[in-house]
Amino acid sequence: MTITATIEEAGFSPASRISTIGVSQILKIGARAQALKREGRLVIILGAGEPDFDTPDHIKDAASKAIYAGATKYTALDGSPELKKAIQGKFERENGVPYALDEITVATGAKQILFNAMMATLNPGDEVIIPTPYWTSYSDIVEIAEGKPVLIACDAEAGFRLKAEQLEAAITPKTRWVMLNSPSNPSGAAYSEADYRPLLDVLLRHPHVWLLVDDMYEHIVYDDFKFVTPAAIEPKLKNRTLTVNGVSKAYAMTGWRIGYAGGPRDLIKAMAVVQSQATSCPCSVSQAASVEALNGPQEFLKERTASFQRRRDLVVSALNAIEGLDCRTPEGAFYTYSGCAGVLGKTAPSGRKIDTDSDFCAYLLDEADVAVVPGSAFGLSPYFRISYATSEEELKVALERIATACAQLA
Ligand code: PMP
Repeated sequence: MTITATIEEAGFSPASRISTIGVSQILKIGARAQALKREGRLVIILGAGEPDFDTPDHIKDAASKAIYAGATKYTALDGSPELKKAIQGKFERENGVPYALDEITVATGAKQILFNAMMATLNPGDEVIIPTPYWTSYSDIVEIAEGKPVLIACDAEAGFRLKAEQLEAAITPKTRWVMLNSPSNPSGAAYSEADYRPLLDVLLRHPHVWLLVDDMYEHIVYDDFKFVTPAAIEPKLKNRTLTVNGVSKAYAMTGWRIGYAGGPRDLIKAMAVVQSQATSCPCSVSQAASVEALNGPQEFLKERTASFQRRRDLVVSALNAIEGLDCRTPEGAFYTYSGCAGVLGKTAPSGRKIDTDSDFCAYLLDEADVAVVPGSAFGLSPYFRISYATSEEELKVALERIATACAQLA
């Protein structure tokens, strides 16, 4: 007789802090698309949130040199001095925001920066204002940290941007943070200085509210859009602003897992406490590579952005030529967030009813071999997100398939 219970006998129930968090819809769609591919279907996946470019060679070279130079050990807890210096230089040079080295933190991706910040600051029930559509992790991270996401709808008509009146109305004594993301995943919308100004004026009147800005897509902006970050616009808010950024998107380094932030010293210290018991430090080799990414040549960024802009133009005009779809032109990132109200209530030749954006995306995947993500995954319907970080050839085929699928709805 054994005294060790099997897993089945012991039972399993997850902690309440994760019980409200479902499996990401994006992952579910990705898994279904991969399953269809394995069956031999030529599915085009427009779901991935990462550039299709490779990490530039000079960055890879810096990483291999670092390995052979012995950068194979733990580093300082929240970032090596070399990387913090490079980040300090980046914030000064590109954003005009001076941070001392102890106001800078480095983590395993910007995702961990957000996680550290929420775990370090939220008490149960503290509110975090998040405009929708939002990057799906925002609300889930807040919930894991036992905070309460307060979602505010910002539709295409509003340019997918939060308005000062909406912010003012959402603030309560329990509000701890507002999270803004410009350019945005999933909408591609970005805040100009004039868009930010009224929001920052509201925050100046509410000193208990802190601002987290996610500048991850700062380098991917189009036409003459001028990227700005709030700590530069309003220095009076700098002592309660966390400016989040990372190397994943600009430098095509999603797998290297380096994100960073600048913010007030006490917050940065508290975030390091969380990190010290989660990962000890970010990967040493990736940190060395990120020093080269930030200090090395930057010219390739323009070329890559120009390539994304061509694809944006192709996708936006193709979507707007389809009856029932309506796509606002994004200022940045590599996503479109297209309205699909005009196809709802219709029926496919197979008899499938299209009542929601999730139904529409399931129809596109099952019957047109194109994987896109419904607005319901990002907290604002009826829309769907296309990631256009794939080849122009694939995009053209995918958009033809979407057009045909829409034309067949009656
Ligand atoms: N912020 C936004 C808006 C993102 O889209 C992503 C990646 N999808 C991240 C943060 C996280 O990036 P990483 O963890 O790779 O640094």
